Amino acid sequence: MTSPRLRVAAPLRRVPRSAASGNLCDAEPMRLLIVEDEKRLAGALAKGLAAEGFAVDMTHDGREGLHLATTQEYDLVILDIMLPGMSGYRVCAHLRAAGNTTPILMLTAKDGELDEAEGLDTGADDYLSKPFSYVVLLARIRAVLRRRNRDGSPVVRLGDLAVDPHTRRCFRGEREVTLTAKEFAVLEHLAARAGQVVSKSEIIEHVWDFAFDGDPNIVEVYISTLRRKIDAPFDRHSIATVRGAGYRLAADGG
Ligand code: CA
Repeated sequence: MTSPRLRVAAPLRRVPRSAASGNLCDAEPMRLLIVEDEKRLAGALAKGLAAEGFAVDMTHDGREGLHLATTQEYDLVILDIMLPGMSGYRVCAHLRAAGNTTPILMLTAKDGELDEAEGLDTGADDYLSKPFSYVVLLARIRAVLRRRNRDGSPVVRLGDLAVDPHTRRCFRGEREVTLTAKEFAVLEHLAARAGQVVSKSEIIEHVWDFAFDGDPNIVEVYISTLRRKIDAPFDRHSIATVRGAGYRLAADGG
């Protein structure tokens, strides 16, 4: 296993996830945004979290952090308080005022410049004071993500095809279809937009890294496997190829 490389493309940096399997986030393609102006800390966090299997974006500027959190979908934002451009408090307040419910884990400075109650009042889900251990950070991230997963993610039912984002399980009628994490993630994305055409690049964006630089035809491999698993044994044809545009999962399950 090679260690993840840092991709330098300021101001946004996507850290490639490691190919390790069986890690914390292998079952779910979790996307994290780190907004932290201490570059060494941000870089170390990004590398560590990428190695855990997260897809990680990183910026050192508050305003850019707000922009990214508003325009991209993240499962969690790790947000420092004292930032150039805009403070973490203001970033958090702006997001909440706009109805954005992305979980936020705030990092507070070691000198206790601003107290934790204030941080929670702005709508942060949790906070962590510096210096913190990486293990504690990871535990907090897991806790925030677990809480969020319990709250939402209803089962998507398309005819007799059921896709459960919470348990990561898929059923055809009573029969469970066993899918790998990536297969499930592709199906989940198609199911969330059932009846609509979803392009290969949208699937890659959702399931792989934003800066995925492999062959986009990898999607075809996954679509083909999904057809073999969720359609063929049941004599169904739920995933249509829309030539030149992408794929469409039938809203009635095929
Ligand atoms: Ca700072």
